[in-house]
Amino acid sequence: MEIFKSTESEVRVYSRAFPVVFNRAKNAHLYTEDGKQYLDFLAGAGSLNYGHNNDILKKALLEYVEADGVSQGLDLFTTAKQDFMESYKKNILQPRGLNYKMQFTGPTGTNCVEAAMKLARKVKGRTNIISFTNGFHGVTAGAVAATGNKHHRGGVGVPLGNVDFMFYDGYLGEDVDSLAIMDKMLSDSSSGIELPAAVIVEAVQGEGGLNAARAEWLKGLSELCEKHDILLILDDIQAGNGRTGEFFSFEFAGIKPDIVTVSKSLSGYGLPMALVLFKPELDIWESGEHNGTFRGNNMAFVTARAAIDTYWKDDEFANSVKAKSKLLGEELQAICDKYPGEFKVKGRGLMRGIEAANPEVTGPITKLAFEKGLIIETSGPNDEVIKCLMPLTTSEDDLRLGAKLLGESVAEVMQKSVSEAS
Ligand code: PLP
Repeated sequence: MEIFKSTESEVRVYSRAFPVVFNRAKNAHLYTEDGKQYLDFLAGAGSLNYGHNNDILKKALLEYVEADGVSQGLDLFTTAKQDFMESYKKNILQPRGLNYKMQFTGPTGTNCVEAAMKLARKVKGRTNIISFTNGFHGVTAGAVAATGNKHHRGGVGVPLGNVDFMFYDGYLGEDVDSLAIMDKMLSDSSSGIELPAAVIVEAVQGEGGLNAARAEWLKGLSELCEKHDILLILDDIQAGNGRTGEFFSFEFAGIKPDIVTVSKSLSGYGLPMALVLFKPELDIWESGEHNGTFRGNNMAFVTARAAIDTYWKDDEFANSVKAKSKLLGEELQAICDKYPGEFKVKGRGLMRGIEAANPEVTGPITKLAFEKGLIIETSGPNDEVIKCLMPLTTSEDDLRLGAKLLGESVAEVMQKSVSEAS
């Protein structure tokens, strides 16, 4: 423990909230050196949708490593990449009527967002991009310019530009049509908004406070983009890979974005991997224009393919996620019902949480939950939302247990704040 405090940079985040040393993990549990078990409702910030050390993925990986399969392959053709691409096309893209080319970028979410924004600018020959209030797209200079959060924007140290922000669904209240405002701004040559190359949007804002856009809004946004000749980039890095109960978080809206960014749980095993999907006619890249040494993590291709072949060859897994989403929603609603006006349920699928009217209570609640054996984080501009992001393979019993530990933590903190006030 001493080495972390003396030598690891102050930039560290999660280890501050959960200051123990972990040495083992299985499905929805993390274990410390001294054997304490924690239920993991953070799941690698959404990068472990199939759980820690998933046995099926692990077997595929071990066999590949044992056979001296290529580990780092740059962008060379390898059997691991070929098998992944064929499976992704057959099991994910084709059944959804999506005709996309696949670009492997450096293995982080922010890198594929950079690639998506670059490509859109190159295709349209325009510099501006429109992002949305509370959007989060990563922390490299290009992606953070499209990120609303002041803290992250402040870390860059240079002026951020070439991105304008519009209002996300519901930002101005339920009765305000934010797309009508956007349409007006884009239609008026004196509005001060440069016609953008693209719009970048999340169907559920993971870091921005679990704001879930309605299907009509996403559909309207897609139509608006078409009307104004703007590309639609759907950032599915956190909400994708089954998190909402569908493989892509935008399927329920019946839209086909021009560009989709995917990362986090794509490899399924926590191995870094990122992918940009785009309509074939947009593929005007020249060789190596968006390059990177680590675009060929073949071990990630192996586990990603195993995850798709196992969980996405039929509807069984998606249906189980839908059933668990319903259960989680009910459990969270039961917590909120005990404190009228104090908490409300937010999010969609297994990307849900509770928003506190008083953001001061969420830190103490998650701290107490950790003491009780639950790892859970906050999200939103003021950390006002307690976010459940457990593996999709979490058992229903563990889902209930997590909700129980959260409910107890809420009760204790609310009780304390009442007694302090009186
Ligand atoms: N886009 C979204 C929607 C995200 O949630 C994140 C990370 O949380 C990113 C982009 C950035 O991904 P990474 O942290 O892998 O760079």
